[in-house]
Amino acid sequence: MKRIELNCFLKGIQVLIIVLFVLTGCDNRQKSIVQQDEYMLGTLIQAKVFNIDKKSAKKSLTRAFQRVQEIEERFSVNIPTSEVSCINENAGIIPISVNEETIKVLEKSIYYAKLSGGAFDPTIGALVNLWGIGTKDAKVPDNQSLKETMDTIGFNNLIINKDKLTAYLTKSGSKLDLGAIVKGYAADEMKKILVEEGIKTAFLNLGGNVLVIGSKVDGSPWRIGVQNPFQRRGNYIGILETKDQAIVSSGNYERYFEQNNKKYHHILDPNTGYPSNNGLVSVTIITSQSIDADALSTSVYVMGLEKGLDLIENLPDTEAILITEMKKVYITSGLKEKFQLTNGEFSYEKR
Ligand code: FAD
Ligand code: MG
Repeated sequence: MKRIELNCFLKGIQVLIIVLFVLTGCDNRQKSIVQQDEYMLGTLIQAKVFNIDKKSAKKSLTRAFQRVQEIEERFSVNIPTSEVSCINENAGIIPISVNEETIKVLEKSIYYAKLSGGAFDPTIGALVNLWGIGTKDAKVPDNQSLKETMDTIGFNNLIINKDKLTAYLTKSGSKLDLGAIVKGYAADEMKKILVEEGIKTAFLNLGGNVLVIGSKVDGSPWRIGVQNPFQRRGNYIGILETKDQAIVSSGNYERYFEQNNKKYHHILDPNTGYPSNNGLVSVTIITSQSIDADALSTSVYVMGLEKGLDLIENLPDTEAILITEMKKVYITSGLKEKFQLTNGEFSYEKR
């Protein structure tokens, strides 16, 4: 409920909510742009489609947003009737029948939990609730509650039965939270619909999860500004040129609270129970599927610089931009020609 109340407040300032942003400038070659913005998944979703008649664009966008609504109703922890809420309510009690797409997303979550050595963990829900970051009751938990809550985390306690289409959390009190992966999934599903509708050029931004369809109308790559984690939204550290890719950032600058002059952000380390604190302040992942970019941005953020860069360098067609609290910028090998650092306060660092 509290998160929902926060949403109402955030709706009022939704104009500000764009983390990565497209640098279209005054490019008047981008003709017939139709844009729709909606507040869903606890964030502002902005969709722009290009070079298509207004009526078809509106129909396509309506379908795409209806799909996001369906996803929210299935995966939200704030909707008591969602499948995820139902799995959480029945932790340690009984397996729950779920839709095939829930199985697919949960399997992906387990895949990234394993790949990241548990840095990404979909069963982190009880810990997310305990901290309450993003709600008006956010506070540093006491040691006893923290210890008890840590016992509820562990992706091995999430049992998926693909034949029976059920999902089950074996530990009582354990809770799923798919906030680090489902925005990515929703972006992929929006893209699927827009492409089905014949759209060849589009820009989607789901609260910092950017996905571009095709290239710009004139055939040139999109120019995406990567948010400066130390400044207000819209200030960027550099520009990424890209086509037909998902660009997803995780950072400490979006959702946080301060207590005794210390900042506590929303990306939690399942090992310590505290906000991840390894010197990274922002991780941007660039790859074809947004679901992968989303899970990886959170994974790398928690894994830290060395392990995170190793992971990304070993994944095909996946690149990353990592920013440290010392304003050092690390990019993976495939970005040398595609990313340009433009902010003089930041500098490249090699490992
Ligand atoms: P990411 O790095 O992608 O994800 C961080 C989030 O994942 C955290 O906020 C936490 O929820 C979880 N998390 C933290 N640490 C880990 C970890 N180690 N492993 C795995 N997960 C972790 N927000 C609202 O305020 N109100 C809502 O009603 C609301 N509804 C939502 C409904 C859905 C279906 C989804 C997917 C999200 C919803 N959100 C809501 C959350 C919000 O939109 C974002 O998901 C959230 O702000 C984090 O996204 P991010 O991209 O900033 O960070
Ligand atoms: Mg993520």
